[in-house]
Amino acid sequence: MRIANLSGRLVIVTGSLAVDVETASYGAFGSDPQAVFDRWHEFVGWAAVADLTSATPFDQAHLYAPMPCPRQLFAIGLNYREHSAELGLIDEAPIVFTKFASSITGPYADVEHPGGELDWEVELVVVISRRARRVSEASAWDYVAGLTVGQDVSERMTQYAGLLPQYSLGKSFAGFAPMGPWIVTPDELVDPTDLALECRVNGSVVQNGRTSEMIMSVASLIAWLSETVTLYPGDLIFTGTPAGVGFGMSPPQFLSVGDELLTRIEGIGELRNRIVAGPLPD
Ligand code: ZN
Repeated sequence: MRIANLSGRLVIVTGSLAVDVETASYGAFGSDPQAVFDRWHEFVGWAAVADLTSATPFDQAHLYAPMPCPRQLFAIGLNYREHSAELGLIDEAPIVFTKFASSITGPYADVEHPGGELDWEVELVVVISRRARRVSEASAWDYVAGLTVGQDVSERMTQYAGLLPQYSLGKSFAGFAPMGPWIVTPDELVDPTDLALECRVNGSVVQNGRTSEMIMSVASLIAWLSETVTLYPGDLIFTGTPAGVGFGMSPPQFLSVGDELLTRIEGIGELRNRIVAGPLPD
């Protein structure tokens, strides 16, 4: 199943068609794209037998971030070996930070260039389906509602301005977390642990990897995080990026106003974001 946020309303996407969940369920489930995760298993049960014949064509330009304001957003740094190597940080354990929720934007939204050194990071994003505390790696996928595509836009000057890195701030300017275009449930994917992921800038491939190359897999990340924190339904995990970021190139390359960023994951979909001069409206 694919679920999306179409003009602020929860929909199920089937091919090029969408079904409004509140309408199709006669109000049993609301229109809020986030609230559905609090009743995720009930929702999945309904969707499996629901009459979706009222599906209609929709304009993809009206898709917004499928999860616009999660309770918690975890982001993982240094989770692919080649990416760690390109930054000279090999053999360090992954690190955890956040992208503040105000940075979330839609799959086709323009991203304002805030100045500085603007970089790209394609990432698989995991959506949590139910409360998770000290879960085992073996059972971790039972806590995954679905997967989506994320772009961890990063401004490197802010990130590295001080003695210690400011990951969360440098990655949280407005529009720095494009996501979507929808959430795909794991059963839709042949192997949800091995998906090709790619980032292109103005059509040129800059990142090209597979999620099976993660140092800590989706399952081990959920087990590891939930040893310390409680994960809630609808929480997001940006799972790290493969090699090929602009900061790791020699000489370094960064995004400029007018650049087109394409962020794609096999079996899920793609984001298209244009870098624009500000200021964009709040
Ligand atoms: Zn990242």
